Amino acid sequence: MAERIPRVPVREQDPKVRATNFEEVCYGYNAEEAKLEASRCLHCKNPRCVGACPVGIDIPGFIAEVASGNFASAAEVIARDSSLPAVCGRVCPQETQCEGSCVLGVKFEPVAIGKLERFVADWSHAQNAATYTKASQTQGTAAETGAPASDSERPAIPLEGVQGVKYSSGANKRVAVIGSGPAGLACASDLAKWGYDVTIFEALHKAGGVLEYGIPEFRLPKETVLKSEIAEVTRLGVKIETDVIIGRTVTIDQLMDQEGFEAVFVGTGAGLPKFMGIPGENLCGVFSANEFLTRNNLMMAFREDYLTPIHAGKKVCVVGGGNVAMDAARTALRLGAEVHIVYRRTEAELPARREEVHHAVEEGIVFDMLTNPVEVLGDDKGWVRALKCIRMELGEPDESGRRSPVPIPGSEFEIPTETVIMALGTSPNPLIARTTAGLEMTRRGCLVANEDGATTREGIFAGGDAVSGAATVILAMGAGRKAAKAIDEYLKAKA
Ligand SMILES: Cc1cc2nc3c(=O)[nH]c(=O)nc-3n(C[C@H](O)[C@H](O)[C@H](O)COP(=O)(O)OP(=O)(O)OC[C@H]3O[C@@H](n4cnc5c(N)ncnc54)[C@H](O)[C@@H]3O)c2cc1C
Ligand code: SF4
Repeated sequence: MAERIPRVPVREQDPKVRATNFEEVCYGYNAEEAKLEASRCLHCKNPRCVGACPVGIDIPGFIAEVASGNFASAAEVIARDSSLPAVCGRVCPQETQCEGSCVLGVKFEPVAIGKLERFVADWSHAQNAATYTKASQTQGTAAETGAPASDSERPAIPLEGVQGVKYSSGANKRVAVIGSGPAGLACASDLAKWGYDVTIFEALHKAGGVLEYGIPEFRLPKETVLKSEIAEVTRLGVKIETDVIIGRTVTIDQLMDQEGFEAVFVGTGAGLPKFMGIPGENLCGVFSANEFLTRNNLMMAFREDYLTPIHAGKKVCVVGGGNVAMDAARTALRLGAEVHIVYRRTEAELPARREEVHHAVEEGIVFDMLTNPVEVLGDDKGWVRALKCIRMELGEPDESGRRSPVPIPGSEFEIPTETVIMALGTSPNPLIARTTAGLEMTRRGCLVANEDGATTREGIFAGGDAVSGAATVILAMGAGRKAAKAIDEYLKAKA
């Protein structure tokens, strides 16, 4: 196998400049770069990349359209299986999924599937935006709201639905989707394509779940990318009601018994933060990563024109080594702080995506490896002044296969800091299970559901982080789509 063209590099903002702003780090491919990169695909007879994609996108199919310059057709191929391609092209761990299985990667570099997906989605949204603007100039309506212009004017979204599932008319059957993260959006999209009357109920004032409140603007722009993807979902007819906490504002039983919903999908994520349980975690200046990121992303603390600021301080310690820790650290850096990541293992064990670690290092985040906090130290006013840590060394592998960190006796030391951000993982909020009879939870607080998303209560399905615990966007989408198929079958059997 001879590779004639090397993988086309993607342009990025200069690290020194981007460390001071919240604009997107990666610029993505232009049309010429995308066509060149697409021409590298071998169009394998048994494409391993497709098998490794949790939503089964026809990867060689869309790449062939890109190579020929048929970007609208490429968008149609992707839309058959994914409702959030601009998001997935940006945040999916492609290196362990589609690109990790690409046959070219055996000897050379894999095809840049994620960057191509992102290119196609951005191109498609740009066409839609141009259509909205044109429509608003003639009708004075759509551009501001993102409301759809006439369907004949823009690239079509195929309505035939999930591979292997025939279009079924779910007309007049109401389905409630709880949570507007990737699981809920994917489930709602498929059901709407099949004709169901779908309403998403979202606790926060904006839709998107972690995509809106967790992943920062510099990785996933909200106005230009996420809003466009959600507009595509509402264009399918999905209604989104924000500021509704199911289990508080209204219960699942009320939705089913009084409001006429015949099935419910629970995609409420895993937003409950974990702490270490060490002394001093209640001091002022200690945040969970979820709170810190929510204040920045959802409440726009990083923007001076918003009245919801945040105090990051001049020095920040982020405890943890996953994607969430990288996002919190890089956000604090952009707010002007010197930032240390405190992690108890070594760089080789960091669970964050390699690309995120690489970007964090480039931007000047300091990594304090083999270091574990034992206490948060405060001043006489109750604010954080330092993080007391102990040095670690790696011992025998634990059940995860990674070598366990072991404290080195007598090696305690202090890192002076004003802020400590705990990025140690999250678990599902138990509210839904506690307010819905018959809905069982595991000991870890996850909803019990089978492979297809059916829970222990008839008519209620679940998927995404609420079932698996904190995982990834694409796994949540895959679970949402599986549940949509199961809901379709359940409602057809019930009719
Ligand atoms: C900071 C951060 C960075 C991440 N980075 C990546 C990444 O780079 N790549 C990747 O693949 N994954 C990443 N993830 C993980 C990924 O975002 C999640 O796995 C995914 O969003 C889970 O989707 P979901 O739909 O199950 O839940 P969520 O996205 O959590 O959405 C659940 C929604 O339900 C709502 N909700 C909860 N309870 C109720 C209720 N009672 N009533 C109504 N609404 C409710 C919530 O407000 C929320 O909007 C990251 C996660 C975080 C926190
Ligand atoms: S495995 Fe790689 S080369 Fe083969 S079809 Fe998929 S992207 Fe193309």
